[in-house]
Amino acid sequence: MSKISRRRHQEFFIRGDIGKALPSVPAVGFTTALLGVFCILAGQVEAASGGTVEARQCLPMDQWASEDLRELDAAAALLKQSGYFDILMRTSRVEICVDPLMTLFRGHYEPDEHVIVIGANASLEEKALILAHELRHVDQAARGYAPSIEFDMRENVRQIFALEADAQAVTVLFAWSMREAGNHSLWQALKTLEHAGDMAAPFEAAMLAGAGQAAATRAAFSAWYRSQWRVENYFTAATGAYLDQLDETRSVESYRELPEGHFDRLCLLPNGGDYACRPPQ
Ligand SMILES: [Zn+2]
Repeated sequence: MSKISRRRHQEFFIRGDIGKALPSVPAVGFTTALLGVFCILAGQVEAASGGTVEARQCLPMDQWASEDLRELDAAAALLKQSGYFDILMRTSRVEICVDPLMTLFRGHYEPDEHVIVIGANASLEEKALILAHELRHVDQAARGYAPSIEFDMRENVRQIFALEADAQAVTVLFAWSMREAGNHSLWQALKTLEHAGDMAAPFEAAMLAGAGQAAATRAAFSAWYRSQWRVENYFTAATGAYLDQLDETRSVESYRELPEGHFDRLCLLPNGGDYACRPPQ
């Protein structure tokens, strides 16, 4: 669907005629998002996202903006306080949307459409954290990191784990930076974020021990792999998507490994430094 027609649908939706706007709209399928980067920070991975393209409301907001979109705008404003995210939003020109119907995902990035979609059932602070995470995926994609059936399935899973761990580690760093700047609300929200908040403690411990930003972000990255929930759910989702994609494209399974040094440029700090993450084999 073109952007123009999508916008028309959004306006239609925002004005309140939900019943007419939605019936013929296919849900955003789980597999649609999978061969890009996907985020399953909440809910069941087997199910569709529950969202629809037509229900999305995207920035910039106008005078008719819904409460959901106004909150997303406020979340984006928080991220603009970070030079890294501010530049990323402006230069990538990624479309940033909220979807009131998306309940199973908190957020995801669709590389094909170059759009980030955030669920509406999150607080302002959670929206900011989820947006930071998804923007990091935009940065990763711009640097050439993309799941692909050109590689062995296990290698593909290894890459998706690393992309997710990096996206969340950088989000933890962002929340910490905001806290140091006097805004504690993001850090508080981060600590209680389901299936993600556990990464805050090792980061904080490293910072309080004087280990520095790089070591603290590396500690958060490593913590990603210690959640059985994350590992199991992302493994299931990644392998399922991989096999679906093989089926759909009638491709022969590849056993190609990721190139040597593939992750060397993944774990860059917003200030350009390297936090030297080490994705496990
Ligand atoms: Zn993600």
